Amino acid sequence: MDALMSNATLLTAPDTYMGIYSELSKYNVHLNIFERLWASWYQYMQNDVLATGIMSFVMHEAVYFGRSLPWVIIDQIPYFNKYKIQGQKIPTASEQWACARLVFLSHVTVELPQIWLFHPMATMCGMEYGVPFPAWTTIALHIAIFFVVEDTWHYWVHRLMHWGPLYKNIHKIHHQYSAPFGLAAEYASPIETMVLGAGTVVAPIVWVLTTGNLHILTMYLWIVCRLFQAIDAHSGYEFPWSLHHFVPFWAGAEHHDVHHERFIGNYASSFRWWDYIMDTESGPEAAKARRERKEAKLAKAAKKAQ
Ligand SMILES: [Zn+2]
Ligand SMILES: [Zn+2]
Repeated sequence: MDALMSNATLLTAPDTYMGIYSELSKYNVHLNIFERLWASWYQYMQNDVLATGIMSFVMHEAVYFGRSLPWVIIDQIPYFNKYKIQGQKIPTASEQWACARLVFLSHVTVELPQIWLFHPMATMCGMEYGVPFPAWTTIALHIAIFFVVEDTWHYWVHRLMHWGPLYKNIHKIHHQYSAPFGLAAEYASPIETMVLGAGTVVAPIVWVLTTGNLHILTMYLWIVCRLFQAIDAHSGYEFPWSLHHFVPFWAGAEHHDVHHERFIGNYASSFRWWDYIMDTESGPEAAKARRERKEAKLAKAAKKAQ
């Protein structure tokens, strides 16, 4: 608490959250509204581990189910069918409900205890959680770095997960839906959640251990971005306004949907470069390009041999 309150003065300590907020606002005009809300929360909780833990869990659930909900609604509106990548496979409401229940159960049993360990681990590694927050440019730079690192981790570990024994025992669960939908993003074995999810957590930890510069807020915003990425990649929808039309190396749903449909290729999470470089792009177009490259190579070799 000392580190946190060093820049947020509080003379008296009311016992309601709003009371603390208004008291804190009187003496800390240099803080913006989000910083005041943040500092008041830690002051109100009087227990930093719990404060971070509860905030992490609530944020994860709110973002996960909140971001999935529009996709559930879109699935029920016939107008959007034409944008569904595997158009004939619209998930039923009961299928989505069963998936949501299982995901929530795994959040409570597997992720909740880990989220409670987050604060001690984060502060031990040197993450800050005080106010004021870092500049938005710093936050954006850190998140961009984490996206690139996580994508690399995801590509290689996910590719490994498709190796026979690992696939059969771990990754197969995630592939239960050959036509994915938003809620299915975290539908996976707990082992997979830990191993693949490590990319999301380890990247910031390695970063803070080497640079000593990372705020827990940045970590939260990174996880929010990563959840949006994962849920949208599983949405099953490809629109003319989808991000990859404007950012050609962005993977998006078009990239990951084929992975679920064909079980092979397109292993990366956020970007297309690893599958391109390693020649593991999936789908008929990629297969055609690969065949053409092979034929050209053979023709060249035959010409040389003549
Ligand atoms: Zn897979
Ligand atoms: Zn998937």
